[in-house]
Amino acid sequence: MTAEPSVEALLTADEPLSRHTYLRVGGPAQYFATPSDRRQLGRIAAWAHASGLPLHVLGGGSNVLVADEGVTGVVVSLRDACGAYEFDGKRVIVGAGVMLPALARAAAERGLGGLEFAVGIPGAVGGALQSNAGIGDGRAIGALVRNVEVLDGDALRVLERDEVVFEYRTSSLRHSGLIVLSATLELNERPAAEIEAEMRELLAARAATQPTAGPNAGSIFRNPEGDYAGRVIEAAGLKGRAAGAASVSELHANFIVHDGSATAADVVALMSEVQQAVLERFELWLEPEVEWWGSAERPAPWHGRPAG
Ligand SMILES: Cc1cc2nc3c(=O)[nH]c(=O)nc-3n(C[C@H](O)[C@H](O)[C@H](O)COP(=O)(O)OP(=O)(O)OC[C@H]3O[C@@H](n4cnc5c(N)ncnc54)[C@H](O)[C@@H]3O)c2cc1C
Repeated sequence: MTAEPSVEALLTADEPLSRHTYLRVGGPAQYFATPSDRRQLGRIAAWAHASGLPLHVLGGGSNVLVADEGVTGVVVSLRDACGAYEFDGKRVIVGAGVMLPALARAAAERGLGGLEFAVGIPGAVGGALQSNAGIGDGRAIGALVRNVEVLDGDALRVLERDEVVFEYRTSSLRHSGLIVLSATLELNERPAAEIEAEMRELLAARAATQPTAGPNAGSIFRNPEGDYAGRVIEAAGLKGRAAGAASVSELHANFIVHDGSATAADVVALMSEVQQAVLERFELWLEPEVEWWGSAERPAPWHGRPAG
């Protein structure tokens, strides 16, 4: 029997998180790990707890903005430990580290629909569940969920569908301290050709309207009630507005893009400028959809509408 590696041997110190996020900005994780199985994940979580260090779970890294100073504690990727799926009739038990587009395609091959909407969302299942990822017509992952398996401290729990609340781009899993390990999703039978045709259409519509070739984090702001953040930002004349190397996309005003040289501070400054300009023009406060990952206090864009 080979000895298990020590937890320290599973950790990489000062791993740049810009390598692991779609926005490609920000500093290092104090420690980074990609455990190969649940047992290693459990040992790393216990080590972090015993060391008094926070544990951050990274999914696809498509919805986080990492501070330039980086992140204190341990960042774990579940890509390997929770990277498998298994179909059983119309259900799929899927690990939290599986990427949505891969899952949508695997379902399509089996003539199972329901995940067509997810083909262009570059998140992992765990990240998608905590934000109830979905698209503008109302389809979202929460509607497919039968149960969610989580790590709660060192205990495994299965939350049934009615124990999880899914709302617009959030859920009761968010900031709950629970680590999502897997979920059971209920799909529906549909001819593979139909599913694939719809997925092609959805991807073409995205390619025509979203600047996804370079670094970005998808929608930077949540849609305000009854409106679209992109429409409002564009109407405020902010397309092309820049701060440092970050700019508001000319293609879709709710995307912030850069050529690889922006800092997190540039993105934060631009977010503040957009919020202020929209507030002055429309008396409307845009809340960030992207999540701040940093050790110090969250910067101004996450403070909520200023008083007065
Ligand atoms: C080009 C582009 C297009 C996008 N389009 C859409 C869209 O159409 N619709 C949409 O809803 N979103 C969209 N997004 C945003 C993003 O893809 C989703 O929010 C996605 O669900 C985030 O998943 P993630 O795995 O990347 O999460 P991450 O960015 O890795 O993490 C986000 C949060 O989830 C937490 N988390 C991740 N995994 C777990 C886990 N296993 N257990 C507990 N917490 C976890 C993290 O700790 C973090 O707090 C887009 C992003 C990009 C870059």
